[in-house]
Amino acid sequence: MSPAASLLAERLHAAGRRRLTEQLWRTPVEVDYLDATHALVDGRRLTVFCNNDYLGLAHAPGLKAARLAAAERWGGGSTASAMVCGRSPAHRRLEESLAQWTGRDRALLFSTGYMANLGVLQALLGDGDLCLQDRLNHASLLDGARLAGAELRRYPHGDTGGAARQLARSPGAATLLATDGVFSMDGDVAPLADLAGLCVSHRALLLVDDAHGLGVLGPHGAGSVAAAGLDQDKVPLLVGTLGKAVGCAGAFVAGPAALIDDLAQFTRSHVYSTAPPPAQAEATLAAVEQARAGEDLRQHLQALIDYFKSCAAQLGLPLLPSHSPIQPLLLGDTTTALQASKELARAGFLVGAIRPPTVPRHQARLRITLTAAHSHAQVEQLLDVLQQLPSLRAAGRGGSTADDGSATMP
Ligand SMILES: *Cc1c(COP(=O)(O)O)cnc(C)c1O
Repeated sequence: MSPAASLLAERLHAAGRRRLTEQLWRTPVEVDYLDATHALVDGRRLTVFCNNDYLGLAHAPGLKAARLAAAERWGGGSTASAMVCGRSPAHRRLEESLAQWTGRDRALLFSTGYMANLGVLQALLGDGDLCLQDRLNHASLLDGARLAGAELRRYPHGDTGGAARQLARSPGAATLLATDGVFSMDGDVAPLADLAGLCVSHRALLLVDDAHGLGVLGPHGAGSVAAAGLDQDKVPLLVGTLGKAVGCAGAFVAGPAALIDDLAQFTRSHVYSTAPPPAQAEATLAAVEQARAGEDLRQHLQALIDYFKSCAAQLGLPLLPSHSPIQPLLLGDTTTALQASKELARAGFLVGAIRPPTVPRHQARLRITLTAAHSHAQVEQLLDVLQQLPSLRAAGRGGSTADDGSATMP
């Protein structure tokens, strides 16, 4: 190993040691799914309340035949970037379906949401441009702005006024404003109509990353942007991911035809990356059709969310103001969050502790997610266990100790 490489490795190792002592070192558990809501973890069968499979489609028996048929028809990988070796009819059909679902002219596929955001921001932004972002945006949006070399300014969470003030500081700059639609760790929805108005009046381009809204919110599950009634003139760039409510993998950006055509030329993560497997595109198309038609799934999910929220509030659990399937319990310090997650596992539930740097310091939490595959009884069992969780009671949050409701977050 060269001296320089070893200096870098040493520095990385030192950072790792710091993470270890601060209880921030993360080791994924091995999770062997048995069905949509159960998995074997360390040889025990746990009920899963932490994935983003909001409609329960990742393990839906109804999609199994479509996945098998797609594998039969299309085989393995796509073998090259679309620019080198063309693309399959499966890719075209999926893009057309996604554009139609979201009410956009056109959609462009990517292998992951991370790559979609990196690529789109890098294609649009350069030196001297301004990128405004919500403080709680997903890491891929922040990284995209940095990679592009734009000036990144983060406004306070959900604060359109704050964004407006930051815009006013650079009146002449070419500006892109990017926000999550539904925030991935808090579950609340961005003030999309206000942000759209701000962008129109300042000639800024608006990008909404709806990774957690697509399939869940809006008419036919078309997402948070559709729920806010915003067409592609108001929100020209809509990023959606296919690994969450759609239960597959991949992502897309959708918008006006000319803009998407131009992005396809300049988005390096699209041009220089092997296209997703055609079989995956075909199987994803079947899942998209189920997600679009899944009104009954969305109704059941909404009923579970309402039930969970009202019971958790009664129990004095430290909920955040979220109406989405993401229902975090804010615990503050890392030790309590880790302890609570361990106690839940002992009681038969898999719920991850989310720690910095994924969330700000002193905002460690349990990120509970509900899905349409859960039953009412499963949610009830989870609430029963939460009510009695020693770490929550010790922190004065939940169950018998929070009688004045003071532990509930605003
Ligand atoms: C998950 C997520 C992504 C990344 O999508 P992947 O397909 O998982 O790479 C991007 N943005 C947001 C808001 C996300 O939650």
